[in-house]
Amino acid sequence: MSLKVVEYPAVWIAGAACSGCSVSLLNAINPSIQNVLIDPVLPGKHVSLRFHATVMAGQGEPVLKVLKDTASQKPGKYILMVEGAVPTAENGLYCTLGEIDGKEVTMKDMMAELAVDAFAVMAMGTCSSYGGIPSGAPNPTGAVSVMEFFKNEGISTPLINIPGCPPHPDWMVGTIAHVLLNGLPLADDLDEKLRPRTFFNNLIHDNCPRRAYFDAGQFARHTSEPGCLYEIGCKGPYSYADCPSRHWNNGVNWCIGSGAQCIGCVEPDFPDKFAPMFKKLDENTLERFKIKTR
Ligand code: SF4
Ligand code: SF4
Repeated sequence: MSLKVVEYPAVWIAGAACSGCSVSLLNAINPSIQNVLIDPVLPGKHVSLRFHATVMAGQGEPVLKVLKDTASQKPGKYILMVEGAVPTAENGLYCTLGEIDGKEVTMKDMMAELAVDAFAVMAMGTCSSYGGIPSGAPNPTGAVSVMEFFKNEGISTPLINIPGCPPHPDWMVGTIAHVLLNGLPLADDLDEKLRPRTFFNNLIHDNCPRRAYFDAGQFARHTSEPGCLYEIGCKGPYSYADCPSRHWNNGVNWCIGSGAQCIGCVEPDFPDKFAPMFKKLDENTLERFKIKTR
C-alpha cells in the first residue's frame, strides 16, 4: 500500500544577501538537498519548493507570478523562507526581485504581500534574522531584519530565526523538518531571539575544546596557534550555537577547530557591535552595547 504524501508549499525569497545561505542549504548532507526537494522530508510529508531564484530553472515574470499565486491560492498554508535583509530606503527600490508588467517588484513589497498570509516565516541567516552585514553602518539602503520589518508593518505571522553567516544546513533542514513534524514551535522551543533552542541553546565558550586554555590563562597570539583565542578576538563567550559539537562541512571541522576565532556570526550583535572582528572587545564596548557573557 503506498503512503499518501502531503505537499507543503514553500517559497524562498532573497533580499540583501550574498546567496551564502542558499549555498549552505545546498550543502545539506543528511538528508541531502536532493532528498529534501524530491523525496518526502519525513514519511508522508514533502516540501514543495515553488520558488527559489538561485536554484530553479525558470526566470522572469512567469515565475514571479507563481510566487504571487502561492500567496493567493494557499493562504495560511505555505512556508515563507527569507534570505537576506529587507532594504526599505527609497520605498525598497534598492532591491527588486524582477518585474511584472514592466513594473519593478521590490523585496519590501513582496515581503509584505507574502508574509501576511504565510503559515510561518523562517528567517534564514543572520541578515534576515537580525540585519547582519547589509544593515551595518552606514546602511544606505535602510536594510532591516524580518523581525524589524514585521514590527514596522504590524505583521504578526509566526517567525523563526535561523541565524548564521551562513546558517548550518542542519539548522535550516532540521527546523523545516521540525515544523512539518510538530507544527509551529512552542514558546519554550525558541529563545528570546526567536532561535530554535535545539541548535542555539548553548554558549560556544562553554563547550569549546580550547576552554581549558582559557581557564589556565594560556592565550594564543596568532590564529592557528595552540591556546585560547580570546585575546585575539574570539566571540565564543558571547555566541550561542552548537558548532563545537555539530561541526561543519559534514562534520569535518569548525571555526575554532581550524584555529580561527569564532566571529559570533549567529548573534544580533554581528557584525557592527562585534567589530573589529579579530580584536578583543574592550570594557567600553561591552558596557555600551550591553554584551554579556558567562
Ligand atoms: S574564548 Fe573562544 S577559543 Fe577561548 S575558550 Fe572561549 S570559545 Fe574557545
Ligand atoms: S563558531 Fe562562531 S563564527 Fe563559526 S559558525 Fe559557529 S557561531 Fe559562526
